[in-house]
Amino acid sequence: MRFRNRLYQLMQGRNGVDAFARFLNHISLGCLCAAILFTFLSLVFLRHEGNTAALVFRILYYVFYGIGILITGIWFFRVFSRNVSKRQAENTRYLYRRQKIENRLFSWKEQWKNRKAYKYFKCPKCKQRIRAPRHKGKIRVTCSKCGDVFITKT
Ligand SMILES: [Zn+2]
Repeated sequence: MRFRNRLYQLMQGRNGVDAFARFLNHISLGCLCAAILFTFLSLVFLRHEGNTAALVFRILYYVFYGIGILITGIWFFRVFSRNVSKRQAENTRYLYRRQKIENRLFSWKEQWKNRKAYKYFKCPKCKQRIRAPRHKGKIRVTCSKCGDVFITKT
């Protein structure tokens, strides 16, 4: 309990672990795992193949190890930062971007699933994504966003 109180006191007024920090944690762990893998590969190639491949893996090891340590540093900086409003703004930006990527992945998935029933295209004027049932020949499309009318083949 005393440890918990101390931890609470230490984190008072600091940003703490948020979603962006967890993301950074995963990235740095991934980098350190890659670094271990490259060390292993450099040792294997040193023994069997001659030095060029071993050297390349050695360099990759340093690169990934360096990036992993750097991101861990950023993680510590963010978690213990007292500038909570700025860190929260970063976290919000991160969540917004993640949501955008997730939405895009979801729509690609939908597009692939429905590829036989629907043709997907973009409005030539505003790039709004539109879909139309397939095998209807040439059709006139009115964009739901900007009202532009164009002709496309289904
Ligand atoms: Zn449009």
